[in-house]
Amino acid sequence: MIILSINAGSSSLKFTGFDMPSEKVLISGVFERIGIDGSFYTIKLNGEKIKKEVELKSHEDAVRILTEELVNYNIVKDLSEIKGVGHRVVHGGDKYADSIVIDKNVTDTIRELFHLAPLHNPANLMGIEAFQEYIPEATAVAVFDTGFPQSMPEENYLYAVPYEWYEKYGVRRYAFHGISHQYITEYMQKFLGKENVNLITCHLGNGSTIYSIKDGKCFDTSLSFSTNSGLVMGTRSGDIDPFVVPYVMKESGMSMEEVLNTLNKKSGLLGVSGVSSDSRDIEDGIKEGNERCILAQKLFVNRIVGYIAKLCCPLKKVDAICFAGGIGENSIMTRKQIIEGLSSLGVELDEEANNVRGEFKLITKEGSKIPCYIVPTDEEVMIARDTYKLID
Ligand code: ADP
Repeated sequence: MIILSINAGSSSLKFTGFDMPSEKVLISGVFERIGIDGSFYTIKLNGEKIKKEVELKSHEDAVRILTEELVNYNIVKDLSEIKGVGHRVVHGGDKYADSIVIDKNVTDTIRELFHLAPLHNPANLMGIEAFQEYIPEATAVAVFDTGFPQSMPEENYLYAVPYEWYEKYGVRRYAFHGISHQYITEYMQKFLGKENVNLITCHLGNGSTIYSIKDGKCFDTSLSFSTNSGLVMGTRSGDIDPFVVPYVMKESGMSMEEVLNTLNKKSGLLGVSGVSSDSRDIEDGIKEGNERCILAQKLFVNRIVGYIAKLCCPLKKVDAICFAGGIGENSIMTRKQIIEGLSSLGVELDEEANNVRGEFKLITKEGSKIPCYIVPTDEEVMIARDTYKLID
């Protein structure tokens, strides 16, 4: 059975076509710069990458071209062979702990939550509507980034603010990135041969999050109300004192929008280093002795170490600490610095084992109190699995 896994952003649409339940990837690719000059798409198939420049006025154009290409490249003879389309949806509020077949109620809820995820949910909905037009027979499924962390207990998702803010305005910690953390959790459940795993899962990429997993369920996270909370990220500040915002507005004359934009797009590794948001550039800067790159990396690593320590304590016993995402899977230096920072927890790095990129591997010594693993994540297959499960 063929299932498409879709991640629609504001100007992009990523897709992966799976044969299920074998989970074999048949085709994948991305449409970029939708609605912007210079749009194009790339398709990966049979180890080849094909790039085509084409005008993409909307997500609908992208989906129309995708459906044509699926036939052109013989992935399907007829679109009716596509039985399911799984959509990544960033915000499900506190309505959806699990993935769900999309009907009008679901699209209405995604729309109602626009104010909580103004950058993401409208784009996700555009993707859903475009597929409903071109492949209406396929079962459409919403897989929420906020779904897996819905199991957080009240004391972990509430803020210490007037309780009415939660009741009236939905002010609480939602956390995001749940699809990736769920994948890592399920991977480790299989690997460790038990359901009730206790883990610390670190997804470190442009956007970064850490979850604690207790008895196989999300217990706490670094991410909070918005996607700009918790860890230092590529361009996002992560946690800051909220009173910094009005202070900077007053001192600089910037509007609230400008300050928030700076916290989202010009902070993090980029803001501190003044060089780049990309951890590879930061590593290069460190090698050249660039002081600000060294400082940015210290902030990045210290925040991670602090969150791991904070999230470990309530678990009592931790079965494993896992590293995923572009940085978690590939940055030998960052993993080394994090694990060294955790030495008071009795975690001991195996330098030689850590000298790898992008493969599942134990990277701590045998005597380490908590074993650490690289666990390459796969959000696309997680979306396809949930979609497959929900098809009658
Ligand atoms: P996103 O959050 O956009 O999905 P990714 O998970 O793709 O991001 O991670 C992107 C980050 O991973 C970038 O900072 C990039 O520099 C980093 N990265 C990718 N490959 C390497 C590498 N070989 N060494 C260090 N960092 C890497």
